[in-house]
Amino acid sequence: MSAASDPDVRHLLADAARQLGGEMARFDAELLLLHVVQRPRSWLFSHATDVVAPAQQQAFASLLARRLAGEPVAYLTGHRGFWTLDLQVDSTTLIPRPETELLVELALQRLPPDQPLTVADLGTGSGAIALALASERPQAEVLATDASAGALAMARANAQRHQLGNVRFALGSSDWFAPLQGRQFALIASNPPYIASVDPHLHAGDLRFEPPTALASGLDGLDDIRLIAAGALPHLQPGGWLLLEHGWDQGAAIRALLEHAGLQDVRTEQDLEQRDRVTLGRRAA
Ligand code: GLN
Repeated sequence: MSAASDPDVRHLLADAARQLGGEMARFDAELLLLHVVQRPRSWLFSHATDVVAPAQQQAFASLLARRLAGEPVAYLTGHRGFWTLDLQVDSTTLIPRPETELLVELALQRLPPDQPLTVADLGTGSGAIALALASERPQAEVLATDASAGALAMARANAQRHQLGNVRFALGSSDWFAPLQGRQFALIASNPPYIASVDPHLHAGDLRFEPPTALASGLDGLDDIRLIAAGALPHLQPGGWLLLEHGWDQGAAIRALLEHAGLQDVRTEQDLEQRDRVTLGRRAA
């Protein structure tokens, strides 16, 4: 039951955004309220003056309190949009980030449509990269790996939800290429952990709640990228591409690693904020 004194959607959101503060406050408040009322985003435009019932106010207040205590919005709602897909996430998976869509774009430029291809996504997490590529290239066969069984289960569930039958899943290990078992791919993509283990950001904001194994990788953040760069060549078809996401200050180091590993046409691409974000190279044709 709701009463005249109950707040409407507009006021509830304004108050929550004020409490949250910051650039994302309004957007975050909307995502939390939409989760409570179980409606799509479009609902907000026509229901701003709807009165919110007490049970929903209470559910919203408890989510807001958890957000104020630091929990990421995507873990509170259990999902996050990436590319054209809504992906389920939980604390076993990294939360998909918009900058990773650059890697998807660069991969698609190198994957001709309408022909059978093999693609691998190493450390798939929620499945973001693998599923985006599988959805855009229905004829491609995508192999998604992760060393976390929890993450792999989530990625599998996301593939099922979006009815993407062209993705296979394989549990990984500290050997990034073990699940590839002597196979070669037209393209290998990865958003591996690449944050320096001493980076204070790991102890601030949303990163505190994400799986450390998906974020940090040795003193300079490059331990996993060194392994991937060193092991990729035998798993690439002639002319096949390796694409790696990384931090804004790691481009030069990773170009050197890929060149040292014998890859060609090595270069770094920048994200929308003009920061180095993806380095790529290919096996000689
Ligand atoms: N882009 C993430 C961040 O800096 C890190 C993701 C990763 O390590 N792969 O928050």
